Amino acid sequence: MGGRRLRLDRVGARPHRRGGRAPTREGGVRFADVVGHGRAIERLRRAAAADRLAAAYLLSGPPGIGKRLVADAFAARILCAAPVAGDACQACAHCTRVAAGTHPDLRTVERDAERRDIRIEQVRELARWLALQPLMAHRKVAIIDGAHCLSEPAQNALLKTLEEPPPSAVLLLTAAAAALLLPTVRSRCQAVRMDPLPPEAVARVLVARGAAPERAALLAAEAEGSPGRAVALSGDEEARARAAVLKALPALGTADAAALSALAQELSRGAVDAALGTTASWYRDVLETALTGDPPRRNPDAAAAVRAAADRSQPARLLRQLEVVCDTIDALARNANRVLALETMLLALRALERDGTVGDLVDGSA
Ligand SMILES: [Zn+2]
Repeated sequence: MGGRRLRLDRVGARPHRRGGRAPTREGGVRFADVVGHGRAIERLRRAAAADRLAAAYLLSGPPGIGKRLVADAFAARILCAAPVAGDACQACAHCTRVAAGTHPDLRTVERDAERRDIRIEQVRELARWLALQPLMAHRKVAIIDGAHCLSEPAQNALLKTLEEPPPSAVLLLTAAAAALLLPTVRSRCQAVRMDPLPPEAVARVLVARGAAPERAALLAAEAEGSPGRAVALSGDEEARARAAVLKALPALGTADAAALSALAQELSRGAVDAALGTTASWYRDVLETALTGDPPRRNPDAAAAVRAAADRSQPARLLRQLEVVCDTIDALARNANRVLALETMLLALRALERDGTVGDLVDGSA
């Protein structure tokens, strides 16, 4: 279900998660620290103020836009003993513990770094914990970050808790899209949809983290409304990967196999996620420009090259190239050999560039 686009969005998802956290983490996260998402936050604030909390909320939206940040701020607000202006006070015993990560009534479950899914054991353990009385607050809050990574058995295990939630429990799920969860799970959560941020807001986040305004604007354009992705793209290694890709792709049709092999080697040693993200954003830009005539939204600094590529490309071929990039992202998510996957991708992209077919690239013919 819409898997391709979502997988594409997963590029760089890992660095986002840390990167998306505001530097205010030490004092705990407050709604006031979140950039954007005014409507969602207002709703959660009102529910907390009236103490009319649902047993479960599902915060959904593209990666890196701040879902976890909002969940953290909501959890802090729920547990705080003396909220100030609709936010956690950052001073009471609860807030201090939340900020230190030692509050006994707050737990977070997420995918282990080396795994592709959240395990059923993690959900069962969480359910047992939620069934116990709160130790310090009058609520227990559990965050399931990246609930779209719950395996189906894990979702079914979670369903039991959602069907008969312990009275004090509040579950906060974040997911890239609500549709990625089972309908039975989804329907038992209050839906909180979160949208990508406007580019100016993303740029503000980057500037606040020390980026030069011009560079921040550029990264914000490529990040498509995701501060987390923008932060992930902002490192030196990511910038090098992006530059290498934007230099190579316009000349792909005339590159020889040795040059592509060298490029694959180079990219494999650097920020591969950024390299693939830029490759995908390049083809999306070229496709959009070819179809609409508009200047590229994601790579405005490569406007002339995008325009030239759009003029000599058929949309059908660009779609196939985009597909090749998505397949490579998938393959690398399944731990394929980096160099080999990148080299195969570049050869396939070149073959499509030259005569519109992938040809015999698999056996390495150049
Ligand atoms: Zn407090």
